[in-house]
Amino acid sequence: MDSQTSTGADEAAAFDEDAFVATVEAFLDAHCDRIDDTDGERSEGRDPVGDDGALAAARSFQAALADAGLAGLTYPAEYGGAGLTRRHQELFTRASAGWRLPDGPLSISHGMCLPMLNQYGTPEQKAAHLADNIRGTHVWCQMFSEPGAGSDVAGLSSRAVRDGDEWILDGQKVWTSGAHYCDHGLVVARTDPSLPKHQGLSMFIVDLHAPGVEVRPLVQISGARGFNEVFFDGVRIPATDLLGEVNQGWNLAVSMLMFERVSIGAGGGGLNAKRHPDLIRLARDLGRDGDPVVRQALADLVIGEEIKGYVGQRIRAAVAAGRVPGPEGSIAKLTGAVLARRTRDAAMAILGASGQAWTPGRGGEAEKWSNFCISAAGVSIAGGTDEVQRNIIGERVLGLPKEPDPYKGAAWQDVPRS
Ligand SMILES: Cc1cc2nc3c(=O)[nH]c(=O)nc-3n(C[C@H](O)[C@H](O)[C@H](O)COP(=O)(O)OP(=O)(O)OC[C@H]3O[C@@H](n4cnc5c(N)ncnc54)[C@H](O)[C@@H]3O)c2cc1C
Repeated sequence: MDSQTSTGADEAAAFDEDAFVATVEAFLDAHCDRIDDTDGERSEGRDPVGDDGALAAARSFQAALADAGLAGLTYPAEYGGAGLTRRHQELFTRASAGWRLPDGPLSISHGMCLPMLNQYGTPEQKAAHLADNIRGTHVWCQMFSEPGAGSDVAGLSSRAVRDGDEWILDGQKVWTSGAHYCDHGLVVARTDPSLPKHQGLSMFIVDLHAPGVEVRPLVQISGARGFNEVFFDGVRIPATDLLGEVNQGWNLAVSMLMFERVSIGAGGGGLNAKRHPDLIRLARDLGRDGDPVVRQALADLVIGEEIKGYVGQRIRAAVAAGRVPGPEGSIAKLTGAVLARRTRDAAMAILGASGQAWTPGRGGEAEKWSNFCISAAGVSIAGGTDEVQRNIIGERVLGLPKEPDPYKGAAWQDVPRS
């Protein structure tokens, strides 16, 4: 579910909040496992972004949400949303905190691409894409990072050149989460290399099934295939698929990164859900709940999750008040990353040596938590690394000087790069 937008219906008359929450709870009860459900058979053991079963589950969950009038809550009804208010979204978010929503594979499509389309799309683009995105019929991904441009994403090299009513795109993206099952990507490409790096970029809606697009999955250490390399070779993009204005792509990219940090930090993404109920159950099952070190780790985790909850609440309150969250997005993202590492350490302390070796296919809890352990480091990298978040907090919260840039103001094409 998104929490990033508004329909203008927010000043609508008061509604029966208890009845709405009861509807949401009845829906979730019918379609999801509770977080404290020790069985958890509907979602247990699924890679939140990687496997086909997870995608199918996410799609059918989203279709059921749409049928119940609970998908895209704050998006306009004319474009397939529910046309409700931010207050409805707030109530939904709060009510759903106790359930495992099987929507991990749609988190980028809904948490980042959907608000971008809604905020920057033309009426024609919204009419063409919003409803299918909201329902999960078409899934979208974010295509920023390149082999030579990650933290310094404004330095990217993929080129789009205008040719009549089309743009021709050449280049390569990497670490594109979910591209192997996505239908469209929001691509940032260089449209004027003679301008300084932040000024010569544009954002495009790219059909990933178009000729010239090649998606190559990357296999991770855990065996999952969450990311991809994507190659563009003379891909023709209709001029009408430019999102926003030509050479204004950096402003859109910053907005999208903010949506990403808010989405990760405020509770989106399968790696970032509340874990302490599962870990307390694990400690009890393994007879480790009397171990003082384990107890300390669990108490520390609960405190960290509480704090993260408050940071997320602050962001949701900013969104509910109609403000675009500022550097608190970075604080939330960093808090989530630190917490993922703490969760990993608590899980390994409980499992001990069995967290490192098991019979393949029969690993049960050990396999599940080891996969989490291997994936946890990624939270510190996705959406801007911990160091980058600290740089932003240093500059924008603490008022420290910006990092020196010897090429500030220089044309992108004149900056040396390897
Ligand atoms: C789980 C996951 C999902 C992802 N999904 C996507 C996706 O869907 N779409 C997409 O476009 N990208 C995605 N990425 C890529 C991600 O955005 C980049 O990996 C990230 O921005 C870092 O870039 P890089 O890997 O090139 O590292 P680099 O930028 O090369 O950084 C290497 C190291 O240098 C440090 N560093 C770099 N610059 C500075 C600085 N100025 N100050 C201090 N330290 C610095 C970094 O913190 C890091 O430790 C994903 C990554 C992960 C892990």
